[in-house]
Amino acid sequence: MHDSSDFFVIDMHVHSFCSDGLHSPDALVKYAKRKGLNGIAIVDHAPKVDIDVIVKRRFKLYKHAFDMNDFVVLPGIEFSFPEGHLLAIFPDFDCDFSFGEVSCIGDLYGVVKDFDGLLIAAHIYRRSGLRDKVLKYIDYLDALEVYPPSRRFNFAKELNIPRVAGSDSHTSLTLGFAVTVFRNQPTSIYDVLKLIKSGEVYPLFFKPYFLRRVLDCFRWFSPTYIFKRADVC
Ligand SMILES: [Zn+2]
Ligand SMILES: [Zn+2]
Repeated sequence: MHDSSDFFVIDMHVHSFCSDGLHSPDALVKYAKRKGLNGIAIVDHAPKVDIDVIVKRRFKLYKHAFDMNDFVVLPGIEFSFPEGHLLAIFPDFDCDFSFGEVSCIGDLYGVVKDFDGLLIAAHIYRRSGLRDKVLKYIDYLDALEVYPPSRRFNFAKELNIPRVAGSDSHTSLTLGFAVTVFRNQPTSIYDVLKLIKSGEVYPLFFKPYFLRRVLDCFRWFSPTYIFKRADVC
């Protein structure tokens, strides 16, 4: 899991073909390594039905990508609540989840804590993020994802809570547009989560968000995306 470079960087928000991304988890790792990243969090959107079964199947694919490479893969799920999107990230691939009863942010917090996971408010400044509702849920949250940044709100800096970044990438083109930098080299997935919780990380942006949006649209014209099998994971 170590790299010889000074920085240890993880893109904390990536989608695979298990939801609306273009690539398989294996391929994502290959592309991310080529870009010099040390890790990715794969956080495919929560399925509407059979969530426990589907997540289990997905985590197996994520684990395969992890086992095959000297590279950090964090298994996660992106939940969309009316209040905003949240990322649940777990320290292991074999959790025996019960998400069936999760109908609000408080429920999700309970499950995430049961498995020693992280609960992160996703892209807090976007319309689909929590925005100022972050304050209401702050006690549930381990970190705030602050990409894209906002000049108008920018309240996260004032809050005493770790800040992370991820690209919300759906294709290899945009992987690593925003990353989380670790001040110390993590030695395990548990360690990655611990370092985030203790705030020994900072967000770093490489490309503007509008470019991420535009470039990811190209996947709609890819035969792989158009003809992908819905039951793959
Ligand atoms: Zn989202
Ligand atoms: Zn996302």
